[in-house]
Amino acid sequence: MAIVVRGKATKQPSWELCGINVATHTRLLLSKPTETHTWDVVIVGGGPAGIAAGLQLARAGRRTTLVERAMVGGQARRLDHIENLPGWPKGVSGRGVMRLWERQARRWGLGTVTGDAVSVRKSEGAFKVRLADGRCLSAGAVVLAPGACFKTLGVPGERRLFGKGVTHGAFDDAPRWSHRVVAVVGGGETAVHQAIHLARWARRVELIARGPLRAHDLLLRRLRDCANVSVQSGRVVRILGKNKVCAVVVRQDGQDRRLGVSAVFVLIGAQASAWVRRSVRPGVFVAGDARGAIERQVAVAAGDGMAAAVRAMRWLQEQR
Ligand SMILES: Cc1cc2nc3c(=O)[nH]c(=O)nc-3n(C[C@H](O)[C@H](O)[C@H](O)COP(=O)(O)OP(=O)(O)OC[C@H]3O[C@@H](n4cnc5c(N)ncnc54)[C@H](O)[C@@H]3O)c2cc1C
Repeated sequence: MAIVVRGKATKQPSWELCGINVATHTRLLLSKPTETHTWDVVIVGGGPAGIAAGLQLARAGRRTTLVERAMVGGQARRLDHIENLPGWPKGVSGRGVMRLWERQARRWGLGTVTGDAVSVRKSEGAFKVRLADGRCLSAGAVVLAPGACFKTLGVPGERRLFGKGVTHGAFDDAPRWSHRVVAVVGGGETAVHQAIHLARWARRVELIARGPLRAHDLLLRRLRDCANVSVQSGRVVRILGKNKVCAVVVRQDGQDRRLGVSAVFVLIGAQASAWVRRSVRPGVFVAGDARGAIERQVAVAAGDGMAAAVRAMRWLQEQR
C-alpha cells in the first residue's frame, strides 16, 4: 500500500517540540515496514553533507526526509574539537555543532527516518530507496551522503578482531585506551590527527606508516610535541590476538617485528562504497565523503550537500 505523506513545512511549524518536527517524525516511526512514503527528495546519511542538503531543501519548501542508520551528525559528531570550521575562532565540539545543524534543519521541517538504506532503484518514474527492514521511501530525487568506507589492510587477524581492538577510529572512544599501548596505521592527516588525540590518554601510541607522513605542518608539529608517540616505518602484515588484539607484526626491509598493542586504528584512507557508485544516475546526487575525493572535511561536506540540494531542486523542476 502506498501512503503519500503530504503537507509542506511552514517556516515555523506549530507542531514543533524541542526542535523536533513531531508530525513528520511520528508518522515515520509508526509506519509499518512495508509501507511506502513519497517525498520530493530522500537523503541517505545524516552527517554534515546530509544535514546541509536537508536544510537547503526543507527551507526551499521541498518535502524532504533524511535516512540515518546511527546518529544524526555522522563522523563529525564524534570529533571532540574541530578547529577548521569557519565561524568558530576557538574551535568547536563536533557533537555541539552537529546538534545545532540538526536543530536548524528540523526547524525548517526536515524529517528523519532511522534506517539502513540498502538500494536505490528507479521504477514508475520515481526513485525507490529501500531500507534493510523492508520499508521503502519514494522520491523524485535522491541525495546520497552516507560518508566513505574506510579501507582495510586485508591482513590476517584484521577481520576476526574487528570490534575487538581493531577499529577505524573514533575520537569519542579514545579515553577507553587510557594507559594502554595502541597502534595507529596510516600516514595521512586522519591517522596523524588520531594519533595526536590518542596520545592524550594512551601510555604509548605506535604510529605505523609505510612512507613519509602526509599531514600538514601544524599537525606534524603537534605530533613531534607528543612524547608518547613513536613513528614506526613499515607495513602491518598481521594482527595477533585470540579474543582481543594483543600485538601487530610490522615488516620492514624483509624483517618482521612484533609490537605489543591493545588496539589497532586502521586509517589508511577511505573510498566511496560500491552501492553508492552503482546507484548514481540522473536524479541521484552524491555529496560529502561519499564522493571518494581526498578533501574529506566537515566544511567541504556541508558545501557539497548544499550543492547537491540545489542540483536536486533543478532536476525536480526539469521533470515537471
Ligand atoms: C579521525 C578523524 C578526524 C577528523 N578531523 C576533522 C577535522 O578536524 N576537521 C574536519 O573538517 N574534518 C575532520 N574529519 C573529517 C570529517 O569528519 C568528514 O569529512 C565529515 O564528517 C564527512 O561528512 P559526510 O556527511 O560526508 O559523512 P559522515 O560524517 O561520514 O556521515 C555519513 C552518515 O551516513 C550514515 N550512513 C552511512 N550509510 C548509511 C546507510 N546505508 N543508510 C543510512 N545512513 C547511512 C552514517 O551513519 C553517518 O552518520 C575527520 C575525520 C576523522 C575520521
